[in-house]
Amino acid sequence: MRVLVDVEGLSWEKAWEVTVKTCAYTNHTVLPEALERWPTSMLESILPRHLQIIYHINHLHLQEVQKKFPGDWDRVKRMSLVEEEGEKRVNMAHLCIVGSHAVNGVARIHSEIIKNDIFHDFYELSPEKFQNKTNGITPRRWLLLCNPSLADLIAEKIGEEWIVHLEQLQLLKNYAKDPNFQRAVQKVKQENKLKLAQMLEKDYGVKVNPASMFDIQVKRIHEYKRQLLNCLHIITLYNRIKRNPTASIAPRTVMIGGKAAPGYYMAKKIIKLICSVGNVVNNDPIIGDKLKVIFLENYRVTLAERIMPAADLSEQISTAGTEASGTGNMKFMLNGALTIGTLDGANVEMAEEMGLDNIFIFGMTVDEVEDLKRRGYNAYDYYNRNPEIKQCVDQIQNGFFSPGNPDEFRDVADVLLKYDRFFLLADFDAYMKCQEKVGEVYQNQAKWVEMAIHNIASSGKFSSDRTIEEYATEIWGVEPSWEKLPAPHEPRDEEPAPVK
Ligand SMILES: *Cc1c(COP(=O)(O)O)cnc(C)c1O
Repeated sequence: MRVLVDVEGLSWEKAWEVTVKTCAYTNHTVLPEALERWPTSMLESILPRHLQIIYHINHLHLQEVQKKFPGDWDRVKRMSLVEEEGEKRVNMAHLCIVGSHAVNGVARIHSEIIKNDIFHDFYELSPEKFQNKTNGITPRRWLLLCNPSLADLIAEKIGEEWIVHLEQLQLLKNYAKDPNFQRAVQKVKQENKLKLAQMLEKDYGVKVNPASMFDIQVKRIHEYKRQLLNCLHIITLYNRIKRNPTASIAPRTVMIGGKAAPGYYMAKKIIKLICSVGNVVNNDPIIGDKLKVIFLENYRVTLAERIMPAADLSEQISTAGTEASGTGNMKFMLNGALTIGTLDGANVEMAEEMGLDNIFIFGMTVDEVEDLKRRGYNAYDYYNRNPEIKQCVDQIQNGFFSPGNPDEFRDVADVLLKYDRFFLLADFDAYMKCQEKVGEVYQNQAKWVEMAIHNIASSGKFSSDRTIEEYATEIWGVEPSWEKLPAPHEPRDEEPAPVK
């Protein structure tokens, strides 16, 4: 608006029309701490002219609100781009919605939350702006390149069309019960696990048992993603094995990887706890090969490319309503890992594609989380009622995993019991029971690999080719030109012909 009005000399009305047609807003999170609200004092000192323009945009916007909802002054206040309570601030998400012709979330459930909850007032003002674009991943990087043996095996059965038309993977459903194909898929997974194990030993100095279930959670460390809930499962497994060392269980290697933001104290504390739990578990002779815990340092795309092909179990356990989409979940699925997860983000659509028989879903739904918030969450209700919860929270609290510094994880236990915004203990029971089911199915390898094949065969929807096409046609009004171009994985030796 500043360039069009001040530099190019357009009228306000023409400039606004161009701006709104040019902008579209994709929301990526509903966590309030991540939605930026810039102090007007800061804008005033750095971008005074922009602030004037924002005030004028707001003036016209609030006139529209009053025209559509006469006398509804609460609504006008809620929808203002400028928040007057406390320090005066510009709500940047509100500015994005008003200045865009399209607004979208990145998975169906997230787009619904945007319409029904965080931006409900804006949805009522302009329902036609609101859309969904479910995220995707590129099958070139996340299968063809990172898992060539699986790619070859798939090509043997159904050809190579899937590389550019991922829905073709559906054809693999015909082979889900074929013992020869099952054996071949299993062999590829086993070889990939062996390769990861060798790399972990060489680069990280850790020894893992490649016959154990590779149970993996890799993603940025954040409280809403609930790496701590995974940690509570590890501690509970440890306590159960100690109580009954001869019980038959599926041996696991639990790997957790991810970076913490530099200023995020609790995320760093969670990493420290995972490492400390690993030190106790991995060195306990009674535990032996049944359970190993590894923190994967320096998680990044090049490491993800090694991990996805070797994973048996994908952990996608965020509190329902907090993960906008997730894409790690899709990478695991495409490489034949089974998912344990909540009905959150793209997990919902993954479950729909593969059917509930092929995924391990547990825990509260978005509605149940909302209900719990209304009733009031008290972690002590769960802590006092469930002796396994009490035991592991006490162990974190009293220094069982930090003998050199008994107070080391007191603050982590305090978060779990007093300040937990993500309701870990409310989902604990459902998570443990679901993990027991995972262990049982893993001990039936024919069943497990059949489910894995169904996962691969159902992942077509999650190609970024589909996502990009939807953005192009439904938000930007442009038709695909890729039919005139070489396939994305083919070398391009000359520039493509200009599109007419
Ligand atoms: C895919 C990917 C992510 C996203 O993972 P989520 O589980 O969806 O949060 C993060 N980091 C890296 C390196 C990735 O490859």
